[in-house]
Amino acid sequence: MKQIFVGLTALIVLSLACSQGAPVVVKTAPVETAAATTTAPPINNETGKAVLLFTIGMHIEPQGETAQGYGGEKADYHEPVFFDKHVNDILTVTQMVEAHGGRMTIQAQSPFTTVAIESGNTILADLASRGHEMALHFHEDAHLGKNDETLSVQQWCDVMKQEISFIKQASGVADIRYWSGGNLYPDVFAAGACAGLDVNSDWKNPKTQGFDLSLVGVNPWRPAGGTNGMDFTLMTQSDPHGAVVFLPEGQYDRTDSAASDRSQIAGGDEAYFEYLKESLYASLEASQAGKVNVFHFTIHPGEFRGDPKHPFAVIEKFLTEVVDPLIVSGDVQWATFSQMADAYIATEK
Ligand SMILES: [Zn+2]
Repeated sequence: MKQIFVGLTALIVLSLACSQGAPVVVKTAPVETAAATTTAPPINNETGKAVLLFTIGMHIEPQGETAQGYGGEKADYHEPVFFDKHVNDILTVTQMVEAHGGRMTIQAQSPFTTVAIESGNTILADLASRGHEMALHFHEDAHLGKNDETLSVQQWCDVMKQEISFIKQASGVADIRYWSGGNLYPDVFAAGACAGLDVNSDWKNPKTQGFDLSLVGVNPWRPAGGTNGMDFTLMTQSDPHGAVVFLPEGQYDRTDSAASDRSQIAGGDEAYFEYLKESLYASLEASQAGKVNVFHFTIHPGEFRGDPKHPFAVIEKFLTEVVDPLIVSGDVQWATFSQMADAYIATEK
């Protein structure tokens, strides 16, 4: 770790301490992924130095009326122009990530999935065949209605399964393991497990867009339970028998929504990616040999509008200037969310 931080300090003039724990050699089993055709490299930290697993997640939002009949105002995936625009955004950014050797975890829900099925659009199948992970992004109110918190685990499970079935149908992927969303439902892990899911992340309060510092870190765990957004006791408690592996997002230090806001008020895309860079370096610093260390951030189609001709140029710049050198030095390794979880599961044995 020391060498890399010497390099980093020279690069970015940040003073970073390094963890000096004795290196522990961990044998990590080759990772099985949901997409059989994945081309991502197996996770390997046999060298005894800390490795930070990294990817970019994509949330596809419930734009338009969902399969369950909720929502439907404003932008709508049932409008072909809008749907195609987002399809193109997703293709642009996934190809960009692929060019840097990475694969993403694409998190979809209706009506994007149902429109893809009905219109014969193969984007999710194409992405799956190129090794990207297919997963569920579950906006509870868009699929369960406003009183979602009063519904039973079985009701959640049934609708999650329905949403998963659309992803399977649109992508041809048989095994969907990861989801984001449902964050204020204390039984969300039970519901997810019931629906066949075993990996979760991206906790934030959907009402305030804030997140909680108790969830900051780089090491996954199995939560003993969910949260109502105020009490994180069970969420942060590790239960070896927990059904779901929770992936923290990394060593982020701001809880305000402004920190993750890409708006001009918050400094725009440049400031946001500067914050991501600092958080990635802090996550490297927090990474330990012998442990599974993870870091990711989330993007959405239609985001990053700074330059309309090159809306994702900030990502290209980030991958080229920040991520690529760390991949070359072996400090960072690409991994989808399920690959991160499998690396963690391998250390539990
Ligand atoms: Zn969302």
